Amino acid sequence: MADAILVVNAGSSSIKFSLFVSRAGSLCMVIRGQIEGLFTNPRFVAKDDAGAVVSEKSWGDGTQLGHAGALDHLAGFIRGELAEHRLVGVGHRVVHGGLEYTQPVRVDARVVTELEKFVPLAPLHQPHNLTPIRLLLERQPGLAQVACFDTSFHRTNPEIAQRFAIPADLHDAGVRRYGFHGLSYEYIASVLPQHDARAAGGKTVVLHLGNGASMCALASGKSVASTMGFTAVDGLPMGTRCGAIDPGVILYLMDQRGMDARAIEKLIYNQSGLLGVSGISSDMRTLLASDDLRAKLAIDLYVYRIRRELGSLVAALGGLDAIVFTAGIGENSPEIRERVLNDAEWLGVKIDRHANADGGPRISAADSRVAAWAIPTNEELMIARHTQRLLRH
Ligand code: AMP
Repeated sequence: MADAILVVNAGSSSIKFSLFVSRAGSLCMVIRGQIEGLFTNPRFVAKDDAGAVVSEKSWGDGTQLGHAGALDHLAGFIRGELAEHRLVGVGHRVVHGGLEYTQPVRVDARVVTELEKFVPLAPLHQPHNLTPIRLLLERQPGLAQVACFDTSFHRTNPEIAQRFAIPADLHDAGVRRYGFHGLSYEYIASVLPQHDARAAGGKTVVLHLGNGASMCALASGKSVASTMGFTAVDGLPMGTRCGAIDPGVILYLMDQRGMDARAIEKLIYNQSGLLGVSGISSDMRTLLASDDLRAKLAIDLYVYRIRRELGSLVAALGGLDAIVFTAGIGENSPEIRERVLNDAEWLGVKIDRHANADGGPRISAADSRVAAWAIPTNEELMIARHTQRLLRH
């Protein structure tokens, strides 16, 4: 019987999952899916590795299906799928590991209590990430669980890169730059040697451009700086998040607009970014297809902010050997990649337009001093690998 690993990414209204099996020494994703619309309009769908739907179910509008009910459905589905496999563990994506968790960890009740301490640092994600862990600990205490953190990969940042210029007692209390999307960057760092040995041993900036977006500076495959900070709202403009904003704006909103923390949270997390600037959509595909000048402005600002942050990360690295694009926009939008690379010409990047239009992976010209790549990320596989490794010990 071959081993299987379930990877779970639980959010406030959805649980995403992927099932990996061990084949000839490597992990292969066989099924992925999600239950979304929890508490409102729950829908389950699971697809095989070719993208064909293997199971789906809708509960109907207004059904109060929460995380526990969703997990029950998922467990039943997985049991049915696992006839020839043995589920050896579950790997969870957990947004925050604080300073303590610099590596994934095998979870028990004590670890969950520790991880709950980080809820104030990531109140929108951490509680939902921990819910299925707690439920599974209660229901299947014998099932091994591993937590993998979005922050861990950035703990190699030099102390100075993690610091805000605020009084030391606040820094010591944890108000510092953590960085996120670490599992994505770790995956890219793990495959970079296959593509570009010079970049893997040198200076690379990775652009994770999805609904959430950030950039990370890698020196010899280790994170030395990133655009996200204390929270995942910092840095680049995103689908609905504003990215870096003068902290004085927040004070102004409180003093002059009477906005409280929740109203500001909604503004900077859900109503800003591409959606806020365009007033049309948070989806890059919709904006690229639109003739509306506000869509153009949102894209222009997005590309401009990438240009600025790229300069900043190259300064932190003290040079540049390669640029890597990944995630939804980075992997799929030749237009955005071309604009970013044209803006980076001064750094020694020369685009290969045909390769870029074809999706790469190498998208820079043969004589480009700095290489450019489009490489799909795989955070789920990274979690499955960590889970498998930890279960062996
Ligand atoms: P992710 O969060 O990684 O799934 O990325 C979601 C983002 O990728 C959304 O803004 C999508 O519009 C964008 N995206 C996906 N496919 C494309 C595409 N072909 N062209 C432009 N943007 C895309």
